[in-house]
Amino acid sequence: MSIGQRARAIAESPTMRLNEEARLLRERGESIIHLGIGEPKNKTPRAAVESAAAKLASGEVKYTPASGVPSLKKAIIRYTEENYGRAVTPQNVIVTDGAKQAIFNVLYSLLDPGQEVILLAPYWVSYPEMVKMLSGVPVVVAPGDGSFHPRMADVERAVSDRTRAIIVNSPNNPSGIVFSEEFVASLVDFCERRGVYAIMDDIYHKLVFDGCRVPSCYQFTTQETDASHVVVVNGVAKTYGMTGFRIGWAVGRRELVKVMSNVQSQTTSCSSALTQAGAEGALVGPQDVVEDLRRFIEHNRDVVLQELAALPGVKVARPGGTFYCLPDFRAFLGGSIARDSLELAGFLLSKARVVTVPGKDFGVEGHLRLSYAGSTEDVVEGLRRIRWALDPRASREIAFGGKTYVRDWL
Ligand code: PMP
Repeated sequence: MSIGQRARAIAESPTMRLNEEARLLRERGESIIHLGIGEPKNKTPRAAVESAAAKLASGEVKYTPASGVPSLKKAIIRYTEENYGRAVTPQNVIVTDGAKQAIFNVLYSLLDPGQEVILLAPYWVSYPEMVKMLSGVPVVVAPGDGSFHPRMADVERAVSDRTRAIIVNSPNNPSGIVFSEEFVASLVDFCERRGVYAIMDDIYHKLVFDGCRVPSCYQFTTQETDASHVVVVNGVAKTYGMTGFRIGWAVGRRELVKVMSNVQSQTTSCSSALTQAGAEGALVGPQDVVEDLRRFIEHNRDVVLQELAALPGVKVARPGGTFYCLPDFRAFLGGSIARDSLELAGFLLSKARVVTVPGKDFGVEGHLRLSYAGSTEDVVEGLRRIRWALDPRASREIAFGGKTYVRDWL
């Protein structure tokens, strides 16, 4: 059987690959600590459960309009007004199967083969693969020296007459960095002047710490929504911990949203009527669930920073949001343990039974992404095991999962 070249070029999601290895180990009875996947552990908000349950009980679970149920779009319009200070119309909004599909659909609607999309490293693993799926060209801009913050001068240098879009994700997966207001302002201004789309992946914009507020991209454009090159992508997965509902959305100019809706009508038809109802419940229901989740994650952020501080040689940029950090493990590379971040992640899984994600997959070698979305106990235990595996000063013996292990590699 022959497989198409284009599909063959797409890498498997590294998070999924490591998860699979971890699953197999767990099946063998091993005690695995997950600092890999980005999924909050909260229960689905009650309002979302009730709304989805009522939809199911109605017995009327049918196709919805391709771009989403009108009442959910209304909730998204209200969200956009409250969070971005911009009044938009139903024609500016499309509901998708998660933020992931929103990004894919935006890219599908914008790109012709050979056109370029600028990605700011460290970037979310799926962006380059999506661009490649569409026969586009990912152009990576490296972060500023010693930080994970992009510099506008570097972005401008990377733009060519083939550039169609720049994807901006702040707070950032994998670094947790929140981009400065100055940067977002100049990027939006640049995109509007040059007619390049600014795709703002705002999936983590509610999960921010230290009293920080993420600037709204719309505050920096004087363009009407229907003339603007700003596209905002968001969803319920992270804000409400509703990853399995698979509901996201995009807000943008109606000309683009119309094309996205056509694409959707020919591919998925529409998102599930059941989970659209659930997402609407979350958006219109009590919002204290978001603050509860945010506060829990902020506490875990503090714990992970404290635990990492006890690991000599590791440097980490303080996350201002998300539930990730991207510590620099270069002090442990190049010797007997591992040559690169991929090998180091494999080493930590096999020795310490801790799942991490190699920085290589996010465009920054020498780092590991740690997720602290899970329980605080897991964060503490994961870092205890990592210290044991990497720090020669740590005791040679460790007990977990009912067994004692002795370190014989340092
Ligand atoms: N963007 C970023 C930066 C993400 O980290 C994720 C999920 N890991 C998504 C988009 C996709 O979100 P969803 O589950 O809504 O598809």
